[in-house]
Amino acid sequence: MVHLAAVVGAVWFWSWPGLALAVGSYFVRMVVVTAAYHRYFSHRAFKTSRVFQLLLAVGAQSAGQKGVIWWASHHRWHHKYSDTPRDVHSARLRGFWYSHVGWVLSSNWNETDVSMVKDLLKFPELRFLDRTGIALLPMFGLGLVFLLLGGLPVFVWAFLVSSVMVWHGSFAINSLAHLIGRRRYETDDDSRNSAILAIATTGEGWHNNHHRYPTSARQGFRWWEIDVTYYVLWMLARAGIVWDLRRPPADA
Ligand SMILES: [Zn+2]
Ligand SMILES: [Zn+2]
Repeated sequence: MVHLAAVVGAVWFWSWPGLALAVGSYFVRMVVVTAAYHRYFSHRAFKTSRVFQLLLAVGAQSAGQKGVIWWASHHRWHHKYSDTPRDVHSARLRGFWYSHVGWVLSSNWNETDVSMVKDLLKFPELRFLDRTGIALLPMFGLGLVFLLLGGLPVFVWAFLVSSVMVWHGSFAINSLAHLIGRRRYETDDDSRNSAILAIATTGEGWHNNHHRYPTSARQGFRWWEIDVTYYVLWMLARAGIVWDLRRPPADA
């Protein structure tokens, strides 16, 4: 439904500034998705206060990818069983479409394996946000903010179109990042490094680096491996909002 609304809305309100707004909104929202859902909640790659942790959870869930506990549990499962029959979304075993979006839509993965996320379940506010019926509220809230701020054209471009882009940007790490690019490390899975994917996903395209050192807050290990999410985290660390950013070993 959101895909259809985004296409109809983009045709109806077509403009170059509108498209630029969608792309700008996409990059900001991708930084939140990758910093929060992925590097913080799934991998605990840095530390922060309980208040900022809550902001990260609400911000992440404004992308409409279910609760942070659900997300982290399935992602940790992916790392534990990458590209084996127990993987949630193996492109090697189930093909591109299943690893991209099929698994998200499958009812097989609705449940959360609580044994994978005991650290997150300690927080009642995160458990509350994870509940069905609550998990999508941050996304509706963000849509409402854009609607009130700029009316329908801003809602369409900054929210609807960018939401579709954020979904596919995120999903591409599960599908394309195990299919295209180069392998620096001989990990047991098919993860790959791709500069194009890294630029498109604010740093997540260095996926082979990431599978080798999953707890590193930085995924681009060389100076030229652009990792915008890490630059944002580094600035937040300078401001004292996050701390203890984990890094790969010096000889990585
Ligand atoms: Zn992976
Ligand atoms: Zn990961």
